[in-house]
Amino acid sequence: MSVLQDFPTCYVCRSIELEIINNEDFGPMTLCNECGYSWIATFEELATPLLITKAS
Ligand SMILES: [Zn+2]
Repeated sequence: MSVLQDFPTCYVCRSIELEIINNEDFGPMTLCNECGYSWIATFEELATPLLITKAS
């Protein structure tokens, strides 16, 4: 039986302290506030009401 995650977690430290940032080159990215790891945001992450920060 597969377990569906209903909230995105950090791939590295499994934290849910995630933030969406808009990167000029890569577009929306998910940033972990716990370990600082970032990756290109997935649809699921974008669909989750995470804190969204506009990078300038
Ligand atoms: Zn992390």
